[in-house]
Amino acid sequence: MVEVNDLHKEYTKGKTKISAVNGISLTVNKGEFVSIVGKSGSGKSTLLNLLAGLDTATSGEIKFNGTDICKFSRKEMAYHRRKTIGIVFQSFNLIATRTALENIMLALAFGGIKRSERKAKAIQLLEKVGLGNRYDHKPSELSGGEAQRVAIARALANDPHFILADEPTGNLDTNTTNDILTLLQNLRKEEGRTIIMITHDLETAQTVSDKIFTVSDGKLINKN
Ligand code: ADP
Ligand code: MG
Repeated sequence: MVEVNDLHKEYTKGKTKISAVNGISLTVNKGEFVSIVGKSGSGKSTLLNLLAGLDTATSGEIKFNGTDICKFSRKEMAYHRRKTIGIVFQSFNLIATRTALENIMLALAFGGIKRSERKAKAIQLLEKVGLGNRYDHKPSELSGGEAQRVAIARALANDPHFILADEPTGNLDTNTTNDILTLLQNLRKEEGRTIIMITHDLETAQTVSDKIFTVSDGKLINKN
């Protein structure tokens, strides 16, 4: 479970301070599918990056199963990110010069999986996301939906309990969006993972989530 308490993130730009996250508290229970919605610039990505340990908070707490990751050293944070969290981005963030299989094998290497086991495990992950026949393709040779499936397979490489997704369907058409949402939902339903997804589209959030948090100007404006 994730417990966020009075979280703040301030950016300084020249002489102005921007409170991108301005006192957010929320709870995500184990196995929930939670969406964070809000307009562009409302602070969604900042919040998700803090949860993912990709950025450090100005103040506040982010407890994963009771442990405050804001107090982690760089080394502890790197370990936490590798073992606990899988991240999916709007623009897939795959390595362009590597095939689908290689992208996943790299993540497995990073997670400390033995060299001899990486290929079989990567193929297994690609099959899980429905891409068993595309593993020799580079990102430019995949459709957006396929590339996002590879990115999801990569996020699963180290078997994380939490999947954090920043607008994972933002670059996809309606049909592909539905496929990706179904895939994410299955990770929750069939494997019990906890999903935290950002979207600017309330309708998307409503079709898949157990709980929706609405962010505006760095604050939560609902709690349902
Ligand atoms: P969203 O994902 O909801 O579009 P963001 O979290 O990206 O919003 O941004 C929230 C606010 O913080 C915006 O005003 C944005 O300009 C600002 N911001 C985000 N990242 C930075 C940064 N690295 N430096 C300065 N300001 C930033
Ligand atoms: Mg964003």
